[in-house]
Amino acid sequence: MSDHNNFGHNYNDIVQPTQQIEQVALSDISPQDKPWDKHRKNAEIISSYYKKGGMDRYAKRVDLCSRNLDFRLVDDKHRGCQKLKLFKAQFCRVRHCPICQWRRSLMWKAKAYEALPKVVTDYPQYRWLFLTLTLKNCELTDLRDTLNDINRAFKRLTELKVFPATGWVKSIEVTRGRDGQSAHPHIHCLLLVKPDYFAQGYLHKKDWIVLWQQCLRLNYKPILDIQAIHADKSPVGLIAEILKYQCKESDLCADADWFIEYVRQMHKTRAVSVGGVLRGYFKALEEEPEDLIGKDDESEKADDDDTVMTFRWNTRIKKYILVRITSCNTRNIQYKDTA
Ligand SMILES: [Zn+2]
Repeated sequence: MSDHNNFGHNYNDIVQPTQQIEQVALSDISPQDKPWDKHRKNAEIISSYYKKGGMDRYAKRVDLCSRNLDFRLVDDKHRGCQKLKLFKAQFCRVRHCPICQWRRSLMWKAKAYEALPKVVTDYPQYRWLFLTLTLKNCELTDLRDTLNDINRAFKRLTELKVFPATGWVKSIEVTRGRDGQSAHPHIHCLLLVKPDYFAQGYLHKKDWIVLWQQCLRLNYKPILDIQAIHADKSPVGLIAEILKYQCKESDLCADADWFIEYVRQMHKTRAVSVGGVLRGYFKALEEEPEDLIGKDDESEKADDDDTVMTFRWNTRIKKYILVRITSCNTRNIQYKDTA
């Protein structure tokens, strides 16, 4: 049994004749879909927090998010076997829903991966820098004002004559302070710089600190990090880092009161923004992705047999469990349902 795939060529190999299909968990038969259980479990926590905060409508929507997942069995040509491919789910699209936040980040990543080679073709000799800008923790109740200050400061930075980037992708991340009360907002930023940056107009870390301090109008030296991506390396991994989430799930789920205030503070703030020449390539990252399922790729064609497997969230055991297999060879004729 290989580690990436443990099923064969049709669902009879997945569900043994003697086995009840309600004993088959999504995470057991499709390792790549393991994250579903974790995110759905956290969605229950977040739903209860929305309820505690009096946001009943959001609580209800998150509670109903992705309860049923329909997968098709598709050929995975890269591996010469079959795998599950999601094709239907009902997403709540609530901003801080752990499932929707995860799906959104996957879709953004896919869009960024698609656009990146075009940038490399158009700017072949250009280099990438990865910049992290921080400041001291703020009171959670001041988070909104602090984010406004940070965004204004970043705009000032990009308008400086010495600012070396011709384009950038920037995201805001917030972590929960160690004291459990405060918030730690910071910026992750990928910068595209001219090929001669390291010879002309190069900024040392200490220069960046001075600039960031000036732009933020602080009376102390802020902490930041700047890394140059090696000329042979792609910034793909860092794009993933930028687009992963605004606040990690463990922080969102840690404390109801922190979460409720965080939601209030973050209302209608923007997660990702793109500037300079990169706007033309990465504009989609500023928008809510319409599709949270993910397009089929060329190598994933549905089988003629077109088997659909429906998994349902089981709140008791906190797993997605197989509840139905529909084989659509002669549409909806063969049908098993335990519900
Ligand atoms: Zn959701």
